[in-house]
Amino acid sequence: MTAWVLDLDGVLWRGAVEIPGSVAAVNALLGRGDQVLFATNNAWAEPGTHEARLAAMGVADTEGRAITSALAAASLVDAGERAVVLGGPGLRSAVAARGAQVLELDRAPSVEAADVCLVGLDKDLSYARLGAAVRSVLAGARLIASNTDPTFPTDTEPLPGAGAVVAAVERATATLAVVAGKPNRPMADLARARLAARGADLDDLVMVGDRRSTDGRFAAELGARFVHVRSGIRVDDGDQSDVAVHREVDDLAAAVAELG
Ligand SMILES: [Mg+2]
Repeated sequence: MTAWVLDLDGVLWRGAVEIPGSVAAVNALLGRGDQVLFATNNAWAEPGTHEARLAAMGVADTEGRAITSALAAASLVDAGERAVVLGGPGLRSAVAARGAQVLELDRAPSVEAADVCLVGLDKDLSYARLGAAVRSVLAGARLIASNTDPTFPTDTEPLPGAGAVVAAVERATATLAVVAGKPNRPMADLARARLAARGADLDDLVMVGDRRSTDGRFAAELGARFVHVRSGIRVDDGDQSDVAVHREVDDLAAAVAELG
């Protein structure tokens, strides 16, 4: 049986709006015993928040099925480490769940003792918060980014994404972040571990997403066939000529119909 890794934004929903047919498609996969995992670069919300939204939309079984770039970033942090987090609740709780100590950004001396600085989308971004993250890295903290998506999708217009925040820290510190989320190895390792724990066949994986630059390259990292859907973003970033596309379809419902 095939194991499906599904992007959320642009596949299940677009901003606040459900993509028609997507929930029925997921339930069809679950109903026939396929494995399903949701993999999002959205590090702002906690996995349980994504799962609750999916359940409220009508997805039949959601528990433990959502992984985020925040979880992938936190997988690079060890228990007992002191962490500065320039990000949202998803990133903070993932780091705390690793047994790390999350330092307060407004306590100047403490950030300079940080072992690691994690950066993601921060909707409370301020010059002071950015400064604290920068100081921690200049004092020797490892720099880890949840993801570097340039924009954050909404149903009206794009907003600056995690990548814009990460770029500010990188620029100010002349340091390149280790990036955890799609399309990178930490997220792929997390997805494969989660699927293996559920008994999935890791030799028969399909990745469905709307961004070739992240989902397409992530599929290659996962060892999955990439199905590109047109239901999400309209403009992708950069050159994707190296991304192998198994199928190009309108939406998730079409993907399940074609591959099922
Ligand atoms: Mg997407």
